[in-house]
Amino acid sequence: MPICIECRCRVKTLYTTYSKADDRALGKGVRLTQCPNCKRFADKYVEHDFVVLFIDLVLIKPQVYRHLLFNRLGRDDDKFDRSIVRLGVLLLLFDVYLTWARIEKLSLPLTSPHRLTYSLSNHEPATNAALLEAQPLVLQYLFFLLLVVSSTLAFHLPIRLLCSINPARIRKGWGRKVWRRLIPYYPHPTPLSTALLVSSCTKLFPILLIIWEYDLPSSATAVSWAVIVNNIAALEILMDCGYLRAGVLVGVGAGLRTAIANFVLKGVGLGTGWGDGTAGLGDVDSLVGVWRAVSSWVGKVMGKR
Ligand SMILES: [Zn+2]
Repeated sequence: MPICIECRCRVKTLYTTYSKADDRALGKGVRLTQCPNCKRFADKYVEHDFVVLFIDLVLIKPQVYRHLLFNRLGRDDDKFDRSIVRLGVLLLLFDVYLTWARIEKLSLPLTSPHRLTYSLSNHEPATNAALLEAQPLVLQYLFFLLLVVSSTLAFHLPIRLLCSINPARIRKGWGRKVWRRLIPYYPHPTPLSTALLVSSCTKLFPILLIIWEYDLPSSATAVSWAVIVNNIAALEILMDCGYLRAGVLVGVGAGLRTAIANFVLKGVGLGTGWGDGTAGLGDVDSLVGVWRAVSSWVGKVMGKR
């Protein structure tokens, strides 16, 4: 059953069609339902196109998340909507490209045997690219695909698992109280993953990299932070659980994702960027980098360099 995106009150329908001849997308022949509770339109986004949805999504408007998660992509049979599967694949492939471009530029670990030979013969500091380029292209692609798939699973699965634990089953005492305070109970894993995927749309932003060339590691960091903020907002809006609990969930997921990615990279002898200011989310240096990237980008957009 759809909900009113303003007050979460349940409504029977979102609109009524009174003339079959007209197209719903044109907004003719359709009357939006007025919410009986708050007297506003139950879901104004029914009439809006994808561009408006995307902009409001990036601006983290709770209404657009409610529209997508409850009224458009929510299903009763606990299966993924087909458009979410497509979005998931798109995000995955895009992530492969971005991760590849970012990891390639990181410096090799100090202990790597390739570091010295490369630096001596090329007279420049060795990056991960030195090690990667020695492998066939297909193998490189498969490696990054595997890396991205495993880090995505490491992000989604812990969040789904934590939310599926019923606090009533935890032994009574302070443990249960702390659990209740920190982890929401939400035994529907599919909407959780849908919320995380929809809110990761910001990941598509670096498509601008094709137009403007700028500092890639810093912009990757900026995008990672924006995605994290969006993820927290989406979980909060889906479960109505407060920002603390949504933040804890996303924190656990993002932590495990970073751990798994670093484990895989270290396993094949590539540098992870930790400690040299080029890590995915980490240290103060990368935050300074974010600021530089944003200001240089704004500068370029405004046309003054
Ligand atoms: Zn309402």
